[in-house]
Amino acid sequence: MSVASYFDDMSYGAAPESDTEARAFLARHAGGFRHFINGGFVASKGGETFETFEPATGRALARLAKGDAADVDAAVAAARKAQGPWAKLSGHQRARHLYALARMIQRHARLLAVVETLDNGKPIRETRDIDIPLAARHFYHHAGWAQVGEREFADHLPVGVVGQIIPWNFPFLMLAWKVAPALAAGNTVVLKPAEYTSLTALLFAELCEAAGLPPGVINIVTGDGETGSLIAAHAGIDKIAFTGSTEVGRLIRQATAGSGKALTLELGGKSPFIVFEDADIDGAIEGIVDAIWFNQGEVCCAGSRLLVQEGIAETFLARLKRRMETLRVGPPLDKCIDMGAIVDPVQLERIDRLVKAGVAEGASLYQAPCPLPASGCFYPPTLLSGVQPASTAAQEEIFGPVLVSMTFRTPDEAVMLANNSRYGLAASIWSETIGLALDIAAKVQAGVVWVNATNLFDAGAGFGGVKESGFGREGGREGMLEYLKPKGWEKRKPRPAAASAPNPAGFAPAGVDRTAKLFIGGKQARPDGNYSLPVYSSKGVQIGEVGEGSRKDIRNAVEAARKADGWSKASAHNRAQVLYYLGENLSARADEFAARLTAMTSASAAKALAEVEASISRLFSAAAYADKYEGRVHVPPLRGVALALHEPVGVVGVLCPPEAPLLAFVSLVAPLLAMGNRVVAVPSEPHPLSATDFYQVLETSDVPAGALNIVTGSAETLATTLAEHDDVDALWAFGAKALGEKVERLSTGNLKRTLTDNGLLTDWHDPAATEGEILLRHAVQVKTVWIPYGE
Ligand code: NDP
Repeated sequence: MSVASYFDDMSYGAAPESDTEARAFLARHAGGFRHFINGGFVASKGGETFETFEPATGRALARLAKGDAADVDAAVAAARKAQGPWAKLSGHQRARHLYALARMIQRHARLLAVVETLDNGKPIRETRDIDIPLAARHFYHHAGWAQVGEREFADHLPVGVVGQIIPWNFPFLMLAWKVAPALAAGNTVVLKPAEYTSLTALLFAELCEAAGLPPGVINIVTGDGETGSLIAAHAGIDKIAFTGSTEVGRLIRQATAGSGKALTLELGGKSPFIVFEDADIDGAIEGIVDAIWFNQGEVCCAGSRLLVQEGIAETFLARLKRRMETLRVGPPLDKCIDMGAIVDPVQLERIDRLVKAGVAEGASLYQAPCPLPASGCFYPPTLLSGVQPASTAAQEEIFGPVLVSMTFRTPDEAVMLANNSRYGLAASIWSETIGLALDIAAKVQAGVVWVNATNLFDAGAGFGGVKESGFGREGGREGMLEYLKPKGWEKRKPRPAAASAPNPAGFAPAGVDRTAKLFIGGKQARPDGNYSLPVYSSKGVQIGEVGEGSRKDIRNAVEAARKADGWSKASAHNRAQVLYYLGENLSARADEFAARLTAMTSASAAKALAEVEASISRLFSAAAYADKYEGRVHVPPLRGVALALHEPVGVVGVLCPPEAPLLAFVSLVAPLLAMGNRVVAVPSEPHPLSATDFYQVLETSDVPAGALNIVTGSAETLATTLAEHDDVDALWAFGAKALGEKVERLSTGNLKRTLTDNGLLTDWHDPAATEGEILLRHAVQVKTVWIPYGE
């Protein structure tokens, strides 16, 4: 073949990356890979092993140890032993370790990239240029957090021993996302890679050994879902960080309920890719290639739902198909291919099944006409157009190279379609009108939004979802906070058992003249069941009655809160004014509230007045933070910015603790309101009257109807309805340990964010435990909006 003939033909030649070194690494472990525990490699105690395969050829790659309960015990024990000394190192010493790991990754980048490609099937182009460099960047960035952490997170401590369970789609990058912040913050780790893709984690273990990381700081136990569930349930672990499917995320939420373990879940997605008529069409088409055919579409934040404006839909899809014709699928070690192999035949079968379901439901199928290798797990780039918004293909996460497309007419319709998903991980918005793009960015329900871009990631910018895409953020300052616990809560001791209900000792002469109603949608409302509950003083004298709220009342309150979305859209200044005014009105009635507190709790007059004064101060503090607890602007390594916006979580239920009936109520509700949430609060069960008296304060202030709703009754009963309600986005439960357990266990339906005190008693008068970021952080979720600029 002459050189000139290449110009006629313009076909690609093979450009294979050498796998010699990677095969040598595998050959060194021909006897089988072992777990990495306490700084050394050890066989599984039970002796069980499993095989891992090369998706591109179907050939076996290696044999690995399958972690059992004894292995997990050993790893947790090693991590526990190492945690104290690791946390005691100075930030600078930990920074040096993380820096050494970053350098190690860079020095072995090519080997890591090739091993990853062999094990996962993804193109070498991606592992070499994206996965491994981003992983190194993660260690560099977090070496920095270790260095400055003592000052930047002076009010925090490491969580302790962290269990980390990661998926197969970005095996090494997910390891970096989890391990780097955990270590920077002073935690030690027990990590389980995915069964299909453990090899780069084990190679990393070798690098840790070579870099002199102290034994026990990182422990890697290989195995399957069963090994993962042993980690999730292990009593010696303080936090679980999980990335994977929503189904397994739910199981982990249930397994950890009531255990006091911190939890972050990064789950599935079905992210919209929205193209407006005025978009740069060529740019948007290249964006789609990156959104859905990057990593074979096995990406949690893949732009898998194309929403294209009707006027350009026909030409856009025609041009997209033309672009699809040029995509190349083939051996992932070939540097010139666009898409490699699907991770496993099981996943290939799932993709195929979901595509067939899409066609059966009426979608039109177009597949890129590229030749596929004769063997191995390959699937062509696929487009399902004309799908119905409610169809399986439009709703289910396919996790493969399959794009579904729909059309919209107006920006409002685009937002409606985009948000018509149980997921909320990411969104990509294409328009040359920046005002429109940013307006849509604010309206889509997603943790990450890319404007005229897609699939941008950086160690300094938070990543994570809303709705059933999970909770918590990875990356940046917000990601670090997930691996820290506030010092302000360290002093908490178990709440003493509630005194048994007092024996009724008669009626207080002036107290029983009225039954306090509920407060729903800005009005006092009778409880649906028309029952009331007696309220006793601590001496057993009945001092009043409150409505006994039921399931129906909670539903009404949630509906009212849902409607009050004007509060979430109000300006921070506006919310601050309303909160200041609440404080002012409470101050005008300070003596009345103090007398009520004394009647309910037998607090001395001075103590009762102090509680009222502290509550006024709390309201002022929330008002102050309304326009000060703001987001940040990240400057990632690209020309542009990533805005970390603090968005309200939505409708939040609050179960107030029995103690400090006014101060705890205000301390919990006020920061939520300040950040723009709408609240359904259940006041202290034994002492609800200062919350019901608060109605008058609310009625004379400017809190809009439905922004704050109050339902009195049994915390235990109302907790069930709140936790199971799919329109409640978050639930805070302060009170009995069993209450926290129940809230966490029942919150899995829509995977609501929960905040519980795990039965520990908070000192509500201590601002370090109850004021500022400690609660505000839970009252917002960070939305990262990437805005690249330049032509
Ligand atoms: P999983 O959620 O099952 O896997 C994620 C990790 O969790 C793996 O390490 C897995 O182990 C482990 N695991 C499995 N079961 C349990 C359990 N009961 N307790 C604790 N850990 C457990 O995802 P799959 O790999 O099975 O993929 C299934 C589907 O999930 C995919 O088709 C895709 O749709 C979606 N997915 C989404 C991801 C995301 O990032 N959003 C990532 C991966 C998958 P092991 O795999 O080793 O058995």
